[in-house]
Amino acid sequence: MASHKCPGCGEGRVPAHMLACNKCWFRLPKCLRDDIVFSWRHDHENHRHFVADAIEWFVENSRSPR
Ligand SMILES: [Zn+2]
Repeated sequence: MASHKCPGCGEGRVPAHMLACNKCWFRLPKCLRDDIVFSWRHDHENHRHFVADAIEWFVENSRSPR
């Protein structure tokens, strides 16, 4: 099964269809989560931009791991 690293904590077992692990996903501000969830269903064109925003948020709001 495809998986990738969580952009928030570096956890390496995030399923490919999810942006971040559960813990980090719920750290994201609700407005960002709503944009991602909505665009995933209804706005594929812009989805990757919202995902990029969220990853940027993680970069700015995460302490560098170890
Ligand atoms: Zn995480």
